[in-house]
Amino acid sequence: MSHVRIEGLTKRFAGKPPAVAVDDLSLEIEPGEFIVLLGPSGCGKTTTLRCLAGLETPDEGRISLGDQMVLDVRGKVNLPPNKRRIGMVFQSYALWPHMTVRRNIGYPLRTRRVAREQARRRIDEAAELVDCAALLDRYPAQLSGGQQQRVALARGLAAQPDLVLFDEPLSNLDARLRDQVRAQLHELHARLGFTAVFVTHDQSEALALGDRLAIMKAGRIEQLDTPERVFEEPATEYVAGFIGMSNRLPLRRQGTGWILAGGPGTNEQTGEASSSGGASRPVADELPVPRSHSEIAVRLRPDDLRLCPAEEKPPAHGVALAAEVVDAQFGGRHMDVVVAIADSRLHAQAPLTGKPWARSLARGQRVTAWFAKDAAL
Ligand code: ADP
Ligand code: MG
Repeated sequence: MSHVRIEGLTKRFAGKPPAVAVDDLSLEIEPGEFIVLLGPSGCGKTTTLRCLAGLETPDEGRISLGDQMVLDVRGKVNLPPNKRRIGMVFQSYALWPHMTVRRNIGYPLRTRRVAREQARRRIDEAAELVDCAALLDRYPAQLSGGQQQRVALARGLAAQPDLVLFDEPLSNLDARLRDQVRAQLHELHARLGFTAVFVTHDQSEALALGDRLAIMKAGRIEQLDTPERVFEEPATEYVAGFIGMSNRLPLRRQGTGWILAGGPGTNEQTGEASSSGGASRPVADELPVPRSHSEIAVRLRPDDLRLCPAEEKPPAHGVALAAEVVDAQFGGRHMDVVVAIADSRLHAQAPLTGKPWARSLARGQRVTAWFAKDAAL
């Protein structure tokens, strides 16, 4: 376990125009910490990992692992991968097809010239850890996808590295297996306490695994925080959108209250003016928003936007909006509903437990949508 320090890491790729894949990125990782890099495709996650591993030649920056400086561009230090105590697990498993499981797991030990007896013991231990002990004499082609990924995991851990890098290691597994291997990885980390940098574009994976999340955008870290804080208090609209607050409702101050901002409410589908409320119709008397704000955009997760019959009043702490159902799909314990509110389309998740009313929601139906006033904070 090591303290990892990344300072001013920059990697450009030649091209027209040149791509800045990693842009002056700094990050400190505590020993034993599980850091998740979360962001959309192309934001520089893989390149950051490859720089950590020594597989890229960065243009700027320094990286230290414990007391070892593995990269210092100005100081002309860039240790090759086998001189860094780093393990790697990739999306594609990247197992050697012509090697048995035993030889695959042992590969990083051979490149580090670990003595034979010690290597044998480490391979057995690593295979044991991920339940692969019975598979050691097989070839990758004789394994299922889940087994291959567990072998890749064992290989990443076998050399007892200071730092383990994961590049979307679960994304090739089907949904059920993905949950299984994810839980196994979470438990393994709790048990062994290795330091990890885990890359994903999947927000639920990030929230489940990370001690801290680094939300990346265009080669930079947009927010670095615990999963709880990223989820509850996203620092920017970009982070909010990425972490599942898919709804955006613009409001404008009018007199002492608030109205829907934007043009008059029209229904996109029919082009008719919708009766679901025009721009001048007040939606809330007061909201817990600082006086200095005259316009706000309320960000809401689908399960924060509630629905009730048009004739019903929501509770006093709620802000009510006239809405029309555009689409309603059965989702098991809830309905996934798209509603039109003035000229905004919003997603609501209406629970079905104890509320069979929601099951009958259908296109064209007028309903009341509401959210808690706190959500405007
Ligand atoms: P992510 O893993 O987040 O999807 P990458 O690190 O793979 O992102 O890529 C970041 C950016 O760098 C992208 O714009 C990508 O096109 C570019 N890039 C990555 N690798 C190369 C390469 N070998 N040559 C040129 N451009 C690259
Ligand atoms: Mg990638």
